[in-house]
Amino acid sequence: MVTKITKNIYKKVLPLPNNPLREINAYIITGERNILIDTGFNRPECEEALKSAFEELGINSADLLITHLHSDHCGLVAKFADNNSIIYSSETDGELINFESGNLYWKMLDDLFIKYGFPKAEFGRNTDIHPGRKYCNKDRINFTYISEGDILKYGGYELKVVLTPGHTPGHMCLYDEKNKILFCGDHILGTITPNICIEIGVENPLNDYIQSLKKIEKLDVKLLLSAHGTPVENMYDRINELYKHHEQRLNEVLSILGNESKTAYMTAEKMTWEIDCKNWNDFPAPQKWFATGEAVSHLQYLYFLGKVVKEEKNGVYFYRVKKD
Ligand SMILES: [Zn+2]
Repeated sequence: MVTKITKNIYKKVLPLPNNPLREINAYIITGERNILIDTGFNRPECEEALKSAFEELGINSADLLITHLHSDHCGLVAKFADNNSIIYSSETDGELINFESGNLYWKMLDDLFIKYGFPKAEFGRNTDIHPGRKYCNKDRINFTYISEGDILKYGGYELKVVLTPGHTPGHMCLYDEKNKILFCGDHILGTITPNICIEIGVENPLNDYIQSLKKIEKLDVKLLLSAHGTPVENMYDRINELYKHHEQRLNEVLSILGNESKTAYMTAEKMTWEIDCKNWNDFPAPQKWFATGEAVSHLQYLYFLGKVVKEEKNGVYFYRVKKD
């Protein structure tokens, strides 16, 4: 079933089987040309759900917009674009999506995580366990890159591109000023805290994310359309909760380091996670991966603040609290 959000804007909830996110909200705006915002994983469950949404709305062609590079948002791009479709993304994430369709990106990501203490041989090649790799788009996409301030006109709306790096380096939101509507991808989610993970070429993703929250806080938003979870009633309250969450996380990371020198992986092991597992050893491999990435983001933020020292030992980074 497609849900009508408001004039010409529809939401279709797509299943993400065996994934803790469980579902993704794809949005479709209908009009002279239609546009689909985010696609779901490249797997049959998402494809069928999206096909049924197109049928229900009586459309057989659409332009596509990818809010960010994650495979649950862009996995089906190639399958839902036809010869007439324009496929929009930011240049940063578009380039990464095409890079991800080859092997080198994943090899580089493996190496990066190993540098942050992820056990080298625990899961074979680490990224073999990554859902982003399993369900990514496999073909090179000919994107139309859009930048800050560009305006897309669909269904009577004027959607302005607002770049919000953090969750990914080229994450974008779309803002309709007149109707105070914001399509925010994974930038702000109601039930979950967006994962802030290290990425190739990014040094301080948590700082990027916090700056992007501040940017969005300045907009007048009445209707927030997120990519996962239940609707957010008040965006400004949710942003404050997210600031608080990361502040608590930073304090937690400092206390975990205590007087010792630890890798991000060792730090992640001690952090509190909302997951149905008895202990760290019980964590499914992909969750260990995301937890490590999240620990890196917080450690790097503290490193750039000058609160922790980062040292390389045998090709692996260790962090310790800086003593005055
Ligand atoms: Zn995402």
